[in-house]
Amino acid sequence: MATDRFAEVEQAIDRGWMFRILQELILIRSENPFDDPVREGYREQEMADYLAGHLSGFGLAVEMREVRPGRPNVFGVMKGSRGQSALMLAGHMDTARTTGYPEAYDVRVEEGRMHGRGACDMKAALAAYLGVVKALRETGTRLNGNLIVCGIVDEEYQMLGSKAIGRSGRMADQGIIGEPTHLKICPANKGRVSTKIVTRGRAAHSSVPEKGINAIEKMSKVIRAFGDYNQELLSRTPHSLCGHGRFTPGVIHGGVQVNMVPDTCELEVDRRTLPGESQASVYADFHERIRRAAAGDPDFVYEITEPTWLIAPNDISPNEPVVAALRAAHREIFGNDPGVEAFVAGSDAPYMGLPTVICGPGSIAQAHTTCEFVDLQEVAAAARLYLHAALRLLGQG
Ligand SMILES: [Zn+2]
Repeated sequence: MATDRFAEVEQAIDRGWMFRILQELILIRSENPFDDPVREGYREQEMADYLAGHLSGFGLAVEMREVRPGRPNVFGVMKGSRGQSALMLAGHMDTARTTGYPEAYDVRVEEGRMHGRGACDMKAALAAYLGVVKALRETGTRLNGNLIVCGIVDEEYQMLGSKAIGRSGRMADQGIIGEPTHLKICPANKGRVSTKIVTRGRAAHSSVPEKGINAIEKMSKVIRAFGDYNQELLSRTPHSLCGHGRFTPGVIHGGVQVNMVPDTCELEVDRRTLPGESQASVYADFHERIRRAAAGDPDFVYEITEPTWLIAPNDISPNEPVVAALRAAHREIFGNDPGVEAFVAGSDAPYMGLPTVICGPGSIAQAHTTCEFVDLQEVAAAARLYLHAALRLLGQG
């Protein structure tokens, strides 16, 4: 049985060490720079250096691949004795920003929870990966397949890191990303298409509105066009884990001053997509609804811009070996089968170029908040799950 040695290797998971690593990872402030140049406070490079230092210290072959200047993905490969299959434990190294969160880097443990920016999203999983590698090394466990630990840049914005990984060809057979799921196993998640719908009119003085074309009034047709869209989405066949697509008009801007007929109005909308839906299918929905609502209005002019956000949905088979391995690990370690469910947010998973499941410590409810924390018992439990899954998937010589 591939997991015979689990009990022995599991004993070697060094919780105190792992928690110290987590604390150090949080203290490397690595907020996503978004469109700004890389500078202090945006230290994905230092995260990569830190991970590389530990991974090479454990004898892994380490490689960094720069995605943007100062923003490398990092890979550590623990070569298996046969090398016929590979499991990647991956996680993003950037975090959300800390506006309004002055204690973001006052890392502290209270009631068994470690607080700080990145605690659950997702430095806890990175610490757990290192804990797994350390336990394997210190027990002299030799896996048959390759275990790859991977740190990724730019998850919080454009997912440039995972897109680069996917483009470089298939690096492993299976992948786990430890985004915060309370250790639930999530082989699918919705994607997202956000865009701006712009109506155009003609400016005029408000004393003679009939000389203008009011773009705000035109936008009211757009808003009505989507009045029953969520209802329609609910009537479509749901995805088994993700349920239904959803639609929200989120931001509206129009007009310059109150005594002018506005010539533009802009509505930014957010559409959560199901596996199988795409930017093209969503835009087709939008155009159809708007054209129907504006039929017969010769002055109606609109456009839909390029997406302001575009995140692919993830959807791997619940029968993938990595999903089965995590479920088996749950059964053997915790005595229950958690089943599978959808992850509630977007992630790097669909871009990795390999079947990747989301399963990690902490809750998405704390991610991106001004009170981010992770339960340390969950970090330790995550390390046990990853270790169990790695032994099962990769076998040992
Ligand atoms: Zn995350």
